[in-house]
Amino acid sequence: FDRMPTLGDVARYHAEARPDAVALSFEGRDTTFADFDRKTSRVANALIAAGLKTGDRVAYVGKNCDLYFELLFGAAKAGVVTAPIGWRLAPPEVAYIVGDSDAKLVFVGPELVDQIESVAAELAWRPEVVVMEPVAGDAHRTFEAWRDAQADADPRVAIKVSDIAIQLYTSGTTGRPKGAMLTHDNLLSMRKLAAEYPLAWNQWGPEDVSLVAMPVSHIGGTGWGLVGLLNGAKGVVAREFDPFKVLDYIEHDRISKMFMVPAALQIVVRQPRAREVDYSRLSHILYGAAPIPLDLLRECMEVFGCGFVQQYGMTETTGTVVYLPPEDHDPAGNARMRSAGLPMPGVELKVMDEAGNSLPPNAVGEVAVRSGANMAGYWKLEDATAKTIDADGWLRTGDAGYLDEDGYLFIHDRVKDMIISGGENIYPAEVESAVYGHPHVAEVAVIGVPDDKWGEAVKAVVALKPGAPRDPDSIIAFARTRIAAFKAPKSIDFIDALPRNPSGKILRRELRAPYWEGRSRQVN
Ligand code: ATP
Ligand code: MG
Repeated sequence: FDRMPTLGDVARYHAEARPDAVALSFEGRDTTFADFDRKTSRVANALIAAGLKTGDRVAYVGKNCDLYFELLFGAAKAGVVTAPIGWRLAPPEVAYIVGDSDAKLVFVGPELVDQIESVAAELAWRPEVVVMEPVAGDAHRTFEAWRDAQADADPRVAIKVSDIAIQLYTSGTTGRPKGAMLTHDNLLSMRKLAAEYPLAWNQWGPEDVSLVAMPVSHIGGTGWGLVGLLNGAKGVVAREFDPFKVLDYIEHDRISKMFMVPAALQIVVRQPRAREVDYSRLSHILYGAAPIPLDLLRECMEVFGCGFVQQYGMTETTGTVVYLPPEDHDPAGNARMRSAGLPMPGVELKVMDEAGNSLPPNAVGEVAVRSGANMAGYWKLEDATAKTIDADGWLRTGDAGYLDEDGYLFIHDRVKDMIISGGENIYPAEVESAVYGHPHVAEVAVIGVPDDKWGEAVKAVVALKPGAPRDPDSIIAFARTRIAAFKAPKSIDFIDALPRNPSGKILRRELRAPYWEGRSRQVN
């Protein structure tokens, strides 16, 4: 691992160590590590030929594809920073991020070619566009033609480990997405440390195949893809999340490890076919990025029968900083199953009060993280950066939680989503987990709504299973059997489907907005 200080070196190292092994597999197209190294050099040469310099940005707006990883690594070889952008966003949202990124070139997936004009119309400048795959009737250059006009010679641009390798936007759950600048060292150093540690679930061998099914515009897609490439494993790239295809990949591509957000796991596990698939090759499912209801976790453990590892982290920490190992997944439901787990090797955690003082075990406060994977900062947001990372390198996560005596982290929720009702702090995720167990409930989000007596009152917004009756009293009564009465919802709203962002996270702020119109919500 010492020979891989930068992304470019990862490509170079494996090209030498395992030239004929498959690095990426995408819809029948396999790229070996030797090819990956050559092609990323061509990409670097093409960017240099286009006049891009170290620190310049390019944007990628598209679904997942193998060529995205070529772009990311090729750009990194040239010192150019890639900003991947969620393809599910609406054109004005895409335009906001493309504009924010100052991208000199925009790489666009074939599905989004139609949207380029409306995105460009919102921008102050006209970006140069390269289309990832040919599209009938479209005149833009295609990625492969653009790449293959160049030589294979590695440009060997001098890259420092502290140079920015990727500008990954946060999911925009609490507000506008922010561009987290991640260095080569952020992307690689902690992952190497983790790989060298004897964490059984994190050992990778030549047989391992990972599935990259979450969008590459998020750390759960790009970061997970990088873990596989760093470890020299084959990565099967899924164009988009499709529950039916996930089962196909597991069966036919011998997937051994995959990362998925809880909302995606729920869809996969509920496929009628899910109970018929052979999971003998699947060694671990890693899940995280949002709280998982315990009933869903148990259902997944029963159906998939493999090892489960929870991951907690954020874009700003380059993904996973806390993990709950398979050993702590006890279907009988010991208390640790509610925990996000232990710090990854090299990660320090603390829980602090508003003034930043460390709190003792079991006291709830804001979680802070310090590690070599903390981002360099937010792009063009100096104030937000200063508020997030202090002089000692502690990064405030914005999440409320506590550490138990054994150092296990329990995440309650976002500090901003905490409900204060009658002076009691109530964390929506705990209430959601309780309501979710009701047999009629398909999805649930819990929010605080204004209440004259209590300040805020707990409301559950529920999407019912098809054909289930609207019976708020039964849901409230059920919740009261599982959690204290003051935490149980006082009222229920019904909705067809919960608003989620492309990472599958519930947008509580959208659900809250109509209730708080014209009033300000007190948040600490
Ligand atoms: P934004 O910062 O733009 O509002 P976001 O915080 O959702 O969006 P991400 O960086 O993708 O953007 O997500 C990080 C957040 O996801 C964490 O701060 C935490 O709230 C949540 N999260 C991640 N892992 C877990 C987990 N295992 N359990 C509960 N919540 C988690
Ligand atoms: Mg965030």
